[in-house]
Amino acid sequence: MGRVHSIETLGAVDGPGLRMVAFLQGCPLRCKFCHNPDTWDFSAGREMSAQELCDQAKRYRRFFGEKGGVTFSGGEPLAQARFVRECVAALHRSGIHCAVDTGGGVASPEALLLLDEADLILLDIKHSEAGGFRELTGGDPAALDRVLERLARTRKPVWVRQVIVEGFTQSEEQVRAMMRKIAGINAVKIELLPYHTLGAHKWAALGLSYPLQGVKPPEEKAMQALRAVTRQRVRC
Ligand code: SF4
Repeated sequence: MGRVHSIETLGAVDGPGLRMVAFLQGCPLRCKFCHNPDTWDFSAGREMSAQELCDQAKRYRRFFGEKGGVTFSGGEPLAQARFVRECVAALHRSGIHCAVDTGGGVASPEALLLLDEADLILLDIKHSEAGGFRELTGGDPAALDRVLERLARTRKPVWVRQVIVEGFTQSEEQVRAMMRKIAGINAVKIELLPYHTLGAHKWAALGLSYPLQGVKPPEEKAMQALRAVTRQRVRC
């Protein structure tokens, strides 16, 4: 059994094609820009079996087409790796493509096996330096390093993402550091996403003070300049 926060039946941004997105409950990180703080608590959400999740996915199968499938997001899907592995095995038996959307906050043996078994990994690089990672996420950067090592060894296709936050990741130097960090993995797509404040109200609803109060989302011009850095891969 796993703990699931919610299921989005047809999402178009969390992997290729149209996908069912299962947001798993529980996350060990505390990203200052998190727009889903309601997924943090490991004891919340609802219990669901792998079979139940797989049966639900099969009902949407005709919408998945050739490219779509199921994405496990969160929360942190690697924190429930045993459950997600069961789901992936069941979905694969039905020929359904499986992606895992992770912040790399967990590197247990079971989590590393899940990285091997999923078809595609969506990896959020929160910050490329140990100090910045700890400050931005409250988590241990060593787990992300072990995740990257595993992905480098297996050559698993990865969509890399980084949220651009003023004062943390919004500089060409930081984007270059991110490019160096992912140099060994099979990054088939790199996306820089502008920080936004759409989740701030959820922090308030949980009685939490929002740590990035006053931090402005980057302007499009700044995003374009940083995206240009990701296209100069060989010079990084
Ligand atoms: S890894 Fe995702 S869910 Fe967890 S705190 Fe960070 S942004 Fe939120």
